[in-house]
Amino acid sequence: MKTRPEKLSALRSEQWELLIIGGGITGAGIALDAASRGIKTALVEKNDFASGTSSKSTKLVHGGLRYLKQLEFALVSEVGRERAIVHKNAPHLVIPEKMLMPLIKGGTYGRLSSSLGLEVYDILANVRKQDRRHMLSKEETLEIEPLLNESTLLGSGYYSEYRTDDARLTIELIKAAQRKGAVCLNYCPVLSLSHHGEMISGVVCKDQISGTEIPVNAKFIVNACGPWVDHIRKMNNSISKKRLHLTKGVHIVLPHEKLPVRHSIYFDVPDGRMIFTIPRGRTTYIGTTDTNYTGDLDQVLTTTEDAQYLINAVSSTFPGINLSLNDIESSWAGIRPLIHQEGKSASEISRKDEIFEAPDGLISIAGGKLTGYRKMAQKTVDLVVKRYEKADGAKFGPCTTRHIPLTEDPLWSEEEVGYYKGTINQKLHALGLSDYFAGYLVANFGKQSDLIISYMDCFKDSLAEESLIRAELKFCIDEEMICTSDDFFDRRTGRLSFDIVSVIRYKDAIIGDLANHFHWTQEQLLADKELLEKKMSSVRFNDAD
Ligand SMILES: Cc1cc2nc3c(=O)[nH]c(=O)nc-3n(C[C@H](O)[C@H](O)[C@H](O)COP(=O)(O)OP(=O)(O)OC[C@H]3O[C@@H](n4cnc5c(N)ncnc54)[C@H](O)[C@@H]3O)c2cc1C
Repeated sequence: MKTRPEKLSALRSEQWELLIIGGGITGAGIALDAASRGIKTALVEKNDFASGTSSKSTKLVHGGLRYLKQLEFALVSEVGRERAIVHKNAPHLVIPEKMLMPLIKGGTYGRLSSSLGLEVYDILANVRKQDRRHMLSKEETLEIEPLLNESTLLGSGYYSEYRTDDARLTIELIKAAQRKGAVCLNYCPVLSLSHHGEMISGVVCKDQISGTEIPVNAKFIVNACGPWVDHIRKMNNSISKKRLHLTKGVHIVLPHEKLPVRHSIYFDVPDGRMIFTIPRGRTTYIGTTDTNYTGDLDQVLTTTEDAQYLINAVSSTFPGINLSLNDIESSWAGIRPLIHQEGKSASEISRKDEIFEAPDGLISIAGGKLTGYRKMAQKTVDLVVKRYEKADGAKFGPCTTRHIPLTEDPLWSEEEVGYYKGTINQKLHALGLSDYFAGYLVANFGKQSDLIISYMDCFKDSLAEESLIRAELKFCIDEEMICTSDDFFDRRTGRLSFDIVSVIRYKDAIIGDLANHFHWTQEQLLADKELLEKKMSSVRFNDAD
């Protein structure tokens, strides 16, 4: 926020070589790739960064085992290799996760096919020998995961994936792009496209904070609007043969003690689909659904029907577990921006990405996965560079994102993350905070945790837990461009999904700090509070405060 006026004035006055519309993982990845090649890059996002699909995924950086079933070998191989690169560049945020796939009577995979499938999966994804899949007997499976249904269980596959926080991955990419010289602005929607002759030459966007419209000039424009890609393509009438096919996926979050799984589990459900249960901190989350969506993209909600489907799925796999809608602490619903394939159902449509070039030069990218964001960015920027060279002979460097760490002061390996977490744990213990907080802080903020802990001194009058959350807020205000309490609780800290109790407990203190910092009027404070309350009631199925 401190630099917002300068950014807005640069946006208006500069001639940009590349303007990206959309600040989800796709746009953020393109911004980093382009800026690191020396391309003068700006990015505008209509709400907060990652407020679209990029905070609503299953939060796995995965090779896509189910695409193997659809025989998409190239896709599995590419995303498999990519997950190792993202892990290397942000090991605190992209964390190895063992996944258990139970084999059940009449299930999707038999013992032989899953053993072979998982082996091929490991090979395609270039998994290290020591991390490759193990096939477990029924007894071995029950020993490590006693909640599974003994009467239908045949055994399991135990294999490697990675988990992440999608919104934090996006914000770290945005920050990395800014360090390379890109200018990125949230709360700045594109209202229309501008043309010079036949060719696209810029956009008009609106600063949501001041209400001012801003004309922006750019040589090339990339539309990375995820589910909104076709909204932008409608602005220049460029939807021809290929169009988006939107499907909704929801996740529900329960207190861990309600579904105390020890591992992430990828299991069959009676309708032939497969879903995940993933333990995270004090919770377990379950997802996802896959249903066609034609509703409002700005109001995507978890319905009772969606939530009940996931509860039923859990009941059929974990017989001792009795859940009701009332147990749901939080939830999220997102839209997959897939590319329509005639005659294919929601679950059958390929997750491949594709680039569309319009006659006026607008480049749109859609489809794909969080996991493959770097490669998608490389393909898009390669195309921009090619077009640039053709248009005026300008040369830009090759893609180097494979080697760019996502945080300024990175942790370089899993071992370093472990050691660092130990030191943070000691510091937090000394302040009276439990082990949970070190895990939470380091997974979200990496080495930036030290700075946050140092800010706790500013809130000495508060108890330790409150001073930590207020220190996080100070960090996010200074470093991460937040404008609302929802930005903070949802996309910077994940607390809205994984620690709703802390949101209930500290929301007034946080909104008070935001109001002080931004000199909000009482009306602005109440508007922010109302927005957060509305969001909280939309993700919850009970009102137990
Ligand atoms: C339920 C579900 C589970 C998934 N699980 C996984 C997973 O575990 N692993 C994985 O790899 N992938 C997963 N995916 C896929 C992945 O989440 C998406 O492919 C990815 O997040 C899409 O990112 P994006 O940047 O293209 O779109 P978005 O994140 O939606 O970003 C587009 C942005 O454009 C902005 N925008 C729209 N219109 C305008 C405008 N006029 N002006 C400015 N900005 C605008 C939006 O506000 C939005 O922030 C999942 C998807 C879903 C729905």
